[in-house]
Amino acid sequence: MNTAILLYQSALREPDRPAIGHGDEVVYTYAELAGTASAIGRYLARERGLRPGDRIALAMNNTPHYLPVLFAAWWSGLVAVPMNPRLHRREFEQLIADSGAELCVTTADLTAPETVPCLDVMELRSAAGEAGSAQPPALVGPEDPAWLFYTSGTTGRSKGATLTHRNLMAATLSALADLGDAADASLLHLTPMSHAGGLFGIVSVARGRTNVLPRDGAVNARTLAEALTAFGPVTFFAVPTILRRLLDPELFADELIPQVRRIFYGGAPTYVDDLRRVVARFGAQRLWQAFGQGESPCTITHLTPDEHAELPSDGRLMTVGHARTGVQVDVVGPSGEFLPHGEVGEVVVRGDTVMAGYWRNPEATRTTLRDGRLHTGDLGWFDSRGRLTLVDRAKDLIISGGSNIYPREIEESLLTHPAVAEAAVVGRADAEWGELPVAFIVPATAVTPAELDAHCLDRLARYKRPREYHFVAELPRNGYGKVLKTELRKRISLQEGPQ
Ligand code: AMP
Repeated sequence: MNTAILLYQSALREPDRPAIGHGDEVVYTYAELAGTASAIGRYLARERGLRPGDRIALAMNNTPHYLPVLFAAWWSGLVAVPMNPRLHRREFEQLIADSGAELCVTTADLTAPETVPCLDVMELRSAAGEAGSAQPPALVGPEDPAWLFYTSGTTGRSKGATLTHRNLMAATLSALADLGDAADASLLHLTPMSHAGGLFGIVSVARGRTNVLPRDGAVNARTLAEALTAFGPVTFFAVPTILRRLLDPELFADELIPQVRRIFYGGAPTYVDDLRRVVARFGAQRLWQAFGQGESPCTITHLTPDEHAELPSDGRLMTVGHARTGVQVDVVGPSGEFLPHGEVGEVVVRGDTVMAGYWRNPEATRTTLRDGRLHTGDLGWFDSRGRLTLVDRAKDLIISGGSNIYPREIEESLLTHPAVAEAAVVGRADAEWGELPVAFIVPATAVTPAELDAHCLDRLARYKRPREYHFVAELPRNGYGKVLKTELRKRISLQEGPQ
């Protein structure tokens, strides 16, 4: 079944309902959104000669016309390749070469790739002509690819997780089952639609709710107030860096909080110290955490609002909750054996959300999809109530003198020091120990390595304490806000002296 059916049906059911809002204006009703997606899809097939299965890349910032283009691709059976708008032109070109996209739709504010024909989204809209009423979407099989979801490449080269229509449908149904009343609020887009934002957009479309973009894509006090007043109550997805920014009442005013039904957050670890402040400001009932990855799009485990009321007070890591509806999540040892509660192993996933494989990359597919399960590369353990705690990514694990050190645990401890605004810990090769932990610190106020060392010795086993501190103005992050530990490892291997 074609994912575009979700829009087609919402438009038949609720044609006049606002589908897309921009600032405080309605840009598309559901009938208009479906009509536009159908017209663009027809144009791509008839005038541009794209055939079912062909790839179409999106080098687009969030705009009210993003969802029309995404659904238009599916309408004609094409495979969408949404690209992180913060990538460099050359990175767009790499993804276009990898995916074999025939055409790229762009927004005027980005530097367009030069290796493929490009079409500005506004030109595409006018070339597609009057929207009229929507034709039924093309017939596609459940195993046909729908979305090549390029991984953020924090641990290596970006790979295209091939998401089929079955995958997108399963992720959407799981969200509808797990979001409760949050699925009935408008969805405000603060993060790129090429990632989780777009996936939640499908859920909102399936439910016939309004997707709202802050005016001109700018996230500031004025645009947030405008969008929430016009379209509240809203939900929105935030990565942990955005969550932190929302703690600032100058950006997100107190009076707006009642207009927030739920904040979906995830995509990277949220430290307990940050979460405590977020819970204090917004209330546990407004929070829902998702753990997922492109390979099982946004859908592995979730932490419900009620579970946010139980924050650990003793330096333990926060759980990422229990398995999402329709998804099987297990923790396995090195030979694939199931591990009992409390033991740390690799998180593996089974279910209809799990990608078909990496696009044109059988080798990476073989290592990641084994024994019918997705090997996430994340390490964690289950408690007796089926709640998962992630300890770290396998690739970030530090092995020192034969003992495992999880950087995440050290980062959590460092962040409890009032002078530490941000912390990232990586391993440095060491002739005697194998590896030793090294910390990168963004200081909030002046602090010395000796003070931080004393702080860690108070909280952590001695062998886990960082042996070097590097004070930096900011941590390197990718376009989705994830800390690039590969970049930090590169820096220390270049023998920058400690400070
Ligand atoms: P991506 O495929 O780019 O979305 O990256 C997925 C990875 O981000 C996962 O494998 C995790 O390592 C991390 N991640 C995603 N959500 C969470 C979360 N809620 N808590 C901790 N880590 C997360």
